[in-house]
Amino acid sequence: MRAIPFSEIPEQGLELELHGLDVGEAGGAEADGGVDAELRLDHGPDGRVLVRGRIRCRAGLRCDRCLDSFAVELRQDFSLVLEPVSCARGFGSEYHLEADELEVEFVEQPVVDPASIVVQQFILSLPAKRLCREDCPGLCPGCGRDLKSAACECGSGAGGPFAALAALLRDDSGKQGG
Ligand SMILES: [Zn+2]
Ligand SMILES: [Zn+2]
Repeated sequence: MRAIPFSEIPEQGLELELHGLDVGEAGGAEADGGVDAELRLDHGPDGRVLVRGRIRCRAGLRCDRCLDSFAVELRQDFSLVLEPVSCARGFGSEYHLEADELEVEFVEQPVVDPASIVVQQFILSLPAKRLCREDCPGLCPGCGRDLKSAACECGSGAGGPFAALAALLRDDSGKQGG
C-alpha cells in the first residue's frame, strides 16, 4: 500500500485495511500468512495525524532455549501521533495534552506509510522472552540434545528437574553481564 499524504486524509478521517501484509523477517520473527491490520487516520492539532489501529497475525518465533520454531497469535492495539519535523520545530505551537499521552513519532514528510507502521507495530508486539513453552528444558549443555524431545545421552543434562535447573541457570548467566 502506498504512502498517504496528510493532505489526502479527509476531514472525517480515513479507515484502511491491510490483509496479509508481508513483513519479511522483522525483529527475528516472521508473520505466517502476513499481518492483517486495521488503521484509522485522523487529523490532529497543529498538522499532526493520529493513527489508531490494530494488528493481528500468527508470528513464527524461535525458542530462546531449545531453538525450536513455534508460533503465537499476536493481537495488538496501538495509537500514535505522526508529527512532521517541520511542525515540531515550531516552538510557538501549543502542545496538546492528549498528544502528550500518546507515542509521538517524527516524520520527515507529512505522509503516512501504513506498511511501515504495521511492520513497526509487529516488531513491538513480539514477546521479549520467547519460549516454546513455559518450562522448556532447552538443550543439554553437554551433548546439545533437545531435552524436551529426547533424553540426554552424555549424562550432564540427565533430564528431569536438573535439566530444567540447568536451563534456568543458563538463562541467568546470560543476564549477569548487564
Ligand atoms: Zn523450547
Ligand atoms: Zn547431554
